[in-house]
Amino acid sequence: MRALALLVLTLLTGCRAPLVRHEFARAAMGTEFRLVFYAPDAASAERAAAAAFTRIEALDAALSDYRAESELACLGRTSDGPCPTDWTLISHELALVLAEAEDVARASGGAFDVTVGPLVELWRRARRQGELPTAERLATARAAVGWRALELDRTRGAVRLLAPRMRLDLGGIAKGYALDAALAELADQGIERALIDGGGDLLAGAPPPGVRGWRVAISGLDSADPGADRAAAYFELAHAALATSGDLERSFELAGVRYSHILDPRSGLALTEQRLVSVLAPNGMSADAWATALSVLGPEGLALVAERAGFSARIVAASAAGLDVFGSGSFSAALSCATPARSGPGAQNP
Ligand code: AMP
Ligand code: MG
Repeated sequence: MRALALLVLTLLTGCRAPLVRHEFARAAMGTEFRLVFYAPDAASAERAAAAAFTRIEALDAALSDYRAESELACLGRTSDGPCPTDWTLISHELALVLAEAEDVARASGGAFDVTVGPLVELWRRARRQGELPTAERLATARAAVGWRALELDRTRGAVRLLAPRMRLDLGGIAKGYALDAALAELADQGIERALIDGGGDLLAGAPPPGVRGWRVAISGLDSADPGADRAAAYFELAHAALATSGDLERSFELAGVRYSHILDPRSGLALTEQRLVSVLAPNGMSADAWATALSVLGPEGLALVAERAGFSARIVAASAAGLDVFGSGSFSAALSCATPARSGPGAQNP
């Protein structure tokens, strides 16, 4: 009798097995990637997760600034010789990321700039040695930075570097692209209801069965006490990305001043403003890049995001008076009114 009931149910539901929630995690790109999705069975879930992780790892190998043999690092070294460099043909993935990077650099007036590599290295050294960069070192690094000195031929998929000793750093955008690529990989495997968390940057596909979106939370600057975290926000995310920039964990202190891992490429200086930026966007790569750009621009940059279809943003800024919250466009409208179960970056899954 039960078997008959099951058979009838199976026929009624179009012969599809019920979807079951699966979760996988793996370290990549200096963080942890977590996949949460609905699949009909464990075997297809594992196949899909393996495909998504393989894609993320391949991107990590090509786009990392840490790996000496990555495509990105090799490209940077071409500028150690005579200048400008010859055109270098690049991979489809790198061309896509550099095209978006160029668009955001132009739109943000150079606040976002993937040629910041020499400055990133300079400020990493400052952190290690516990002393600020000298004016001379700063000037040398700045001479090798500038988004206009990275010339991209979108038709041919080629680049050339116009300044000596340039170094590219995709730390502000590559993770977002990896989210997009991983979600596409899951879709190729027939998985549509998925959420991917790349160290706090989120990308959602279709929602879990029966609900409007994936319940996700972002914390405010004052996340030590979730109860008092008035800037915390909750979303139901579907077919959209939510990126966050400006985490305090990666900042460091020198002579009582807190310096961020995000730099203003226009001055060469590490940011000292304490800001937490969240950007909602149609895809992971744009969300990631704009979250970094707005960290540099501050609230004045919100208008740039508001004019883009499907984008909205929020900036929580620390001031002497406490926390100021600035919002653009539909960001507040996108907030879910639901009471959160817990606070903090990352996903709260149904
Ligand atoms: P995110 O956490 O996405 O804001 O990215 C921060 C990382 O991007 C840093 O660790 C650097 O590797 C790189 N970065 C820092 N400042 C900038 C900038 N102004 N534009 C582009 N990338 C940056
Ligand atoms: Mg970013």
